[in-house]
Amino acid sequence: MSSDKKVRVRFAPSPTGGLHLGGVRTALFNYLFAKHHNGEFILRIEDTDQTRFVPGAEEYIMECLAWCGLNPDESPINPGSFGPYRQSERKPSYRKFAEQLVNDGHAYYAFDTAEELDEQRKIHPNFRYAHDNRMNLRNSLSLGQEETNRLLAEGAPHTIRIKMPENEIVAFDDMIRGRVSFETSLVDDKVLLKADGMPTYHLAVVVDDRAMEISHIFRGEEWLPSAPVHILLWDYLGWKEEMPNWAHLPLILKPDGNGKLSKRDGDRLGFPVYAMNWNDPKTGDLTTGFRERGFLPEAFVNMLALLGWNDGTEQEIFDMNELVQKFSVDRISKAGAKFDFEKAKWYNQEWIKRAPNAELLPEVKAVLEKHGLNTAEYTDVFIESILDLVKERLTYIEDFWEQASFFFQKPEKYDVDAVKPKWTDEKSTFFNEVADLFADQSTWESASLEPLFKNKIAESGMKMGELMMPFRIMLVGGKFGPDVFKITEVLGKEEVIERIKTAVPQFQN
Ligand code: GLU
Repeated sequence: MSSDKKVRVRFAPSPTGGLHLGGVRTALFNYLFAKHHNGEFILRIEDTDQTRFVPGAEEYIMECLAWCGLNPDESPINPGSFGPYRQSERKPSYRKFAEQLVNDGHAYYAFDTAEELDEQRKIHPNFRYAHDNRMNLRNSLSLGQEETNRLLAEGAPHTIRIKMPENEIVAFDDMIRGRVSFETSLVDDKVLLKADGMPTYHLAVVVDDRAMEISHIFRGEEWLPSAPVHILLWDYLGWKEEMPNWAHLPLILKPDGNGKLSKRDGDRLGFPVYAMNWNDPKTGDLTTGFRERGFLPEAFVNMLALLGWNDGTEQEIFDMNELVQKFSVDRISKAGAKFDFEKAKWYNQEWIKRAPNAELLPEVKAVLEKHGLNTAEYTDVFIESILDLVKERLTYIEDFWEQASFFFQKPEKYDVDAVKPKWTDEKSTFFNEVADLFADQSTWESASLEPLFKNKIAESGMKMGELMMPFRIMLVGGKFGPDVFKITEVLGKEEVIERIKTAVPQFQN
């Protein structure tokens, strides 16, 4: 590839279902590479396999990308000058290349029916259509020119298969792995054009990557075995000089490192594997996604970027701009990256801490509404001041309810076991006096409430710990929550006095 070529990369998913986090990482690395080099990031929908097409999957993929902030420069809904961006719509452009390959002796017509191939599979359990048995099967190589012409003229259904050479070594330089080579005899004669006239992935990917002037390809490691077929096609079609650079990304592994992370691992271990909720229209099954589980897109993207890449330092928190700036292919590791859900949660915590309140507010309100509150009754300033206090404690925005519901409603019950056994009349008196003392205050802020309360304890002769915990439980219901004087401040004078007065009788024996 010439170095002055414009960087153009593509994310090329097949619209067959929910988007696995590995797929999003592939999209992300493509995006980061493109943006780092001021290039273009293209979305191409690879929908040539009509049997696997799932309605809604394409829209879902686009929504996932938008959620992650990976907006394509060209896509089916935002076409550039290289369209169409759905392979099914490019159908007429493939046959001529398949036929060119036949004419040049690099491919052949195969007339075997599905039944005949099934029969072969029954007889030979390891059946593959390849150099060592193709002469025993029904194709233009075994049948000869005349019979082939007759069958074609008669309109006999046929596929076109690549004629893999025997005993050749095909090699390329992978941007991550370095030199990778393949023994062609081990690769079967892949179908290039199907009987329905649609190309297979192998033909379409090569034709389209060239037509769309793709300069670099980042794709999952699972596509590495297909590389020799693609390299030969670039060569046989006379496009060798234009071949893009390839990078095969390391797998994302199960938490224990044993094999590729699958959707089933998520179901089994209780974490999402898809980017967003996926409703399978065929089975009606719903699979939870990171988005609906409560992940911020910034956290999800940050976590994915670090699955197989780092910038060479200990830094773990990166926003998209910084990722674009720092991304480099030589820091992508060859080894598979273990998925760690606890780490994913940590990223979310970190990003919630960093998120501006205004950004979190709509989601926080949604949580409150979900619990039956009418958020119109509260000012944004009030909700944001609470967010400031509990933000550090949230793994998910949903935790806001657990951490902060007491700001919006009085405790329904108290952790009486923590106070009742040691309760005394003296304590009741103390709190009744605190309520009176509070009532006299004209300003209401934690900085003055704290010394006021602590002086009162000192005067009483009781111990700090004996009174601080009950005070917290009166306001919150339990032994949790942020600084008790901050809580006092946010709750407001009337509310605090009322909560003290409601709680005292319940703590008495
Ligand atoms: N359509 C392939 C997929 O679903 C794309 C592979 C590639 O990027 O070449 O992953």
